[in-house]
Amino acid sequence: MDVGAVVDVIANARIAGEGRELMPLALVEPDAPYDVFLRNGRILDIAPAGYARHEGAVLDAEGAWLVPGLWDHHVHLRQWALSQARPSVAHAHSAEEAAAFAARHAPGDDGRRVLQHWREGLWAVPASLEALDATTGEVPTYLLGADSHSVWMNSAAFRREGLAADPSGVLREGPAFATIVAVNAVSDATANRAVATAASAAAGRGVVGVCDLEFGAELHAWRERASAGWQALRVHVAIYPDHLDEAIAAGLRTGDPLDEGGLVRLGVLKVLADGSLGTRTAWTSGAYADDPHHHGGHNVSPDEMTRLVVRAAAAGIATTIHAIGDLTNAAALDAFARAGVPGRIEHAQLVTAPDVRRFAHLGVAASVQPQHAMDDRELTEHHWGAHAAIPYPLRSFRDAGVQLLFGSDAPVAPLDPWIGMAAAVFRTDDDREPWRPDQAVDVRTALAASTAGGSTEPQTIEPGAPADLAIVGHDPIAADRDTLRAMPVHATILGGRLTHLA
Ligand SMILES: [Zn+2]
Repeated sequence: MDVGAVVDVIANARIAGEGRELMPLALVEPDAPYDVFLRNGRILDIAPAGYARHEGAVLDAEGAWLVPGLWDHHVHLRQWALSQARPSVAHAHSAEEAAAFAARHAPGDDGRRVLQHWREGLWAVPASLEALDATTGEVPTYLLGADSHSVWMNSAAFRREGLAADPSGVLREGPAFATIVAVNAVSDATANRAVATAASAAAGRGVVGVCDLEFGAELHAWRERASAGWQALRVHVAIYPDHLDEAIAAGLRTGDPLDEGGLVRLGVLKVLADGSLGTRTAWTSGAYADDPHHHGGHNVSPDEMTRLVVRAAAAGIATTIHAIGDLTNAAALDAFARAGVPGRIEHAQLVTAPDVRRFAHLGVAASVQPQHAMDDRELTEHHWGAHAAIPYPLRSFRDAGVQLLFGSDAPVAPLDPWIGMAAAVFRTDDDREPWRPDQAVDVRTALAASTAGGSTEPQTIEPGAPADLAIVGHDPIAADRDTLRAMPVHATILGGRLTHLA
């Protein structure tokens, strides 16, 4: 059997865990193998192995575990795809070290030298134009910020982009986003090839769907990919406010298909309401550690958030608001409350206890990236450790009954839901003690949050459910941290069709 083949029967699969929450099968016995019959993209029936006759194409799971197909609810697919070929400066401990490392890399076809994962937050001496110019000379050089909210560039790069350089050499927020879009504006053929490769790699991790929150005119790119026979993943394509009028004029509503097969659909309107922790631009009630007067700020005013939510909702388009600081989360919740519609918030990294409960009351989903807490644990303690609001409140959200949606924000973290699940459950990805383990969630919640419906309406394995499934090497419910993180994925099935086979 090859990728692309339709599967009629998955034979000898164990249903992960005892399956009470994710798999509401009254009769599932732990560890007994089952045959799962698929038809027309859905699960038709489930029977003890060997009990019913097999017809058609049989995929033998050989006793491996069946889990629902996974979703990454927050990716920037074009950036992630292109980033696969970009060197990382994550290891650099100083501006000099990063600048010296950058100088060793050849520019790409377009003449730009682009590196990624630049992280300034904990350097003793901040980045500067001078430090980068000293090593990189006349080659336009870009160090994309690890959180995608900043870019450190040399003078040649400022000239290339037609921008005035300031002594820091750093662009933040709006100008940084515009520069990232420019750097990623490779030819369609190059982008589509990279996106196709990244999508098969995602299927290789059990992923059946993503919410693509890429900046720029991705609706156009996705219409083209869809018409060229896209098959690899379900994709919900987000739009940004500058494309809202166009989507409304086209009569597009959230969930509407952009292709015949319905794999590619319009997702949500994304409003970038504040900055990030790494860039110290997230809007917080407490001050940042290094400056008692610095609280970040909002990119979109609270009134404008409400206006956008209302305008989109009137046209049938759901909104998600990027909100990292506690004041932005409060304002975003206010916007949904005023508009009288449910919604979704991306990141929700710093939230007060009363606002955690408001997520639940207002029906606002928390789209969170558990691995960010691992990558930023020092930075978070440094800047927000003494704040009253809760950083990365996963368990608080779960206990309040908030719908949790897990994602990677790739390229900020790798597009691999197992990394996020392991971070959410075990709260450490190295030798250090778990970070704020009181905010860890159980593995069932983590798995559910990594499926289409999120933690409160997870994808199930039962007759009638979509045949979006993955066959994995270990029982995730019983797995230790390293096993969960590196979970072997034997096969991935999307709407009954194989998208990955190891
Ligand atoms: Zn993002």
